[in-house]
Amino acid sequence: MEALVLEKKGELSLRDFPEIDRAETALGPRDVRIRLHTVGICGSDVHYYSHGRIGPFVVNAPMILGHEASGTVIEVGADVERLMEGDRVCMEPGIPDPNSKATQLGMYNIDPTVRFWATPPVHGILRPTCVHPEAFTFKLPDNVSFAEAAMVEPLAVGVHAATKARVRPGDNAIVMGAGPIGLVTALSALAAGCARVYVTDLAAKKLEIAGSLSPAITPVDVTAQDLCDVVKRDTDGWGADIVFEATGSPQAARTVFEALCPGGCVVLIGGQPDPIEYDAGAAMVREARVENIFRYAHVFPRCLSMLSSGAINVKPLITRTFDFSDSVQAFEIAASAPPADVKMQIELPQ
Ligand code: ZN
Repeated sequence: MEALVLEKKGELSLRDFPEIDRAETALGPRDVRIRLHTVGICGSDVHYYSHGRIGPFVVNAPMILGHEASGTVIEVGADVERLMEGDRVCMEPGIPDPNSKATQLGMYNIDPTVRFWATPPVHGILRPTCVHPEAFTFKLPDNVSFAEAAMVEPLAVGVHAATKARVRPGDNAIVMGAGPIGLVTALSALAAGCARVYVTDLAAKKLEIAGSLSPAITPVDVTAQDLCDVVKRDTDGWGADIVFEATGSPQAARTVFEALCPGGCVVLIGGQPDPIEYDAGAAMVREARVENIFRYAHVFPRCLSMLSSGAINVKPLITRTFDFSDSVQAFEIAASAPPADVKMQIELPQ
């Protein structure tokens, strides 16, 4: 079957991939076979395309891209209980070792042996079908579309970050960075009870999208405004309760404590491939709590509940949809980072 293959850095092709067909012919007793419907293009997919690696993960052999996915169950293993043929589903892309210590302790996302789609050497799911464990496959509520369901994976990062921050009703938060992860984090922080979320960026168009999502979001253009001044003016000089760092920029990370209130919390979300500096003295005088997140754990059902109830609306973040046959072009466009786009998705033929 045809798949979107990253042959090597900078080279994509849509072609048959016999190796994956052979690997996935067998369906385990607790697995389901899924016909993929919608796959989001993630920053990590684009990064592998443009750079051939992310930190220690290097593309050394052709790899199928894609990990933000929804689809329909077309076959179930003998011992599958929760799912049936015809169910609409979304999938959590990381499969941990069920016997690992991290999994036993409930931290399966940081199991060192977790196998995560489109992270070398594990193939992604920009292909017609895949086999996946029932345990990491979630049935969609009827009012959640395939497109929204393919947003659950990035949304899960924001929900995990808000959970780690321990948001309290009425908190003021800052989200640094108005990319897809920054925006789902802002939506998650509001759903968790934040009264106001300041979203920063350098790109006017991204800030405009951020501001359109909720009257409780205040966009801050850091090329023209001082974030600290804006937040301190609104909070009687106290500062923000939570700062979410979602740019992955070392320069931004260096400033995370500046607008943080005493006793506040910083959550580092943006990936930092190299060691970074932060102001430990500023953290100390605030007794700041610093949290780190890596992907997410145990949040897909919560994301689906919030999409279904309307507590979170991700539809405005889906700015372009491509046919699978145009997926090479879709990646070229995504790699050019158009400022007016948040999330681009690819739809597979059904
Ligand atoms: Zn992703």
